[in-house]
Amino acid sequence: MKALELKNVDKSFKKRRGEVVRALDGISLSVGKGEVVGILGPNGSGKSTLVRVLSTLVLPDAGEVEVFGVDAVRHPKQVQRMMNRVSVEASFFKKLSAMENLLYGSKLYGVTSREARPRIGEILDNIGFDRKRATEPMEHLSRGMQQKIALARALLTSPVLMLLDEPTTGLDPRSKKDVQAFIRKIRTAHDSSILLCTHDMGEAEELCDRVGIMVDGKILALEKPDELKRRYATNGRVPDLEETFMAATGFSVEEASAEKE
Ligand code: ADP
Ligand code: MG
Repeated sequence: MKALELKNVDKSFKKRRGEVVRALDGISLSVGKGEVVGILGPNGSGKSTLVRVLSTLVLPDAGEVEVFGVDAVRHPKQVQRMMNRVSVEASFFKKLSAMENLLYGSKLYGVTSREARPRIGEILDNIGFDRKRATEPMEHLSRGMQQKIALARALLTSPVLMLLDEPTTGLDPRSKKDVQAFIRKIRTAHDSSILLCTHDMGEAEELCDRVGIMVDGKILALEKPDELKRRYATNGRVPDLEETFMAATGFSVEEASAEKE
């Protein structure tokens, strides 16, 4: 059984002036147990929509979505319990501290404060978050620090499936390295299956078993990073992932990370 299986998934949105955007256009994708699959794509290519469909926040218009064999459209509650999503728009109780938010997060997954406390300390150390700041209100923390707490919250419950939507976007280089190292660690320690959406080529290459390139709601290729690069070789020269991305999408890396709209 696969951790994730999508078949021909479509999702369109109506924009102002009646224009329709196909955010997901016939997406088929599978992620094996313990596998880390990266989706590289420019802004607006549909990565977050893919993650929202998987986390049952958005209903697909068509297609099949299964998480560990469970139909995500028919059994959203069951599917939600198996996964955790980390995205840039993580929501917190801003007036409460990081610790309080984390304790609350564990409670939602049935983990008591007594069990959660030591584990929270350990996770905070691991991601390079100063424990002393864990008692300050969330709103006093930088975005990078808040992002680390979002990740810590997801890790606390050792989910079998993690959906990481640009987990290191907006982090300083040091925090980025901490978070990436921690993702690698979880993966070996918990054997979690991970879908990682990013526009960071280095991150995709370093963390993922397979990398897919997404443009305009379609996944153009999904392979091991080496194979992906070889596919775009010209005259026997194998490009790096950045060049591969440009060749596949027609976007430069700068354009890929620019805000759309
Ligand atoms: P990415 O995460 O790759 O930047 P998104 O999945 O956020 O891409 O967006 C894909 C496309 O779908 C974009 O054109 C975006 O504007 C559109 N879109 C996403 N969510 C909505 C929504 N709730 N309503 C209208 N359009 C949306
Ligand atoms: Mg996004």
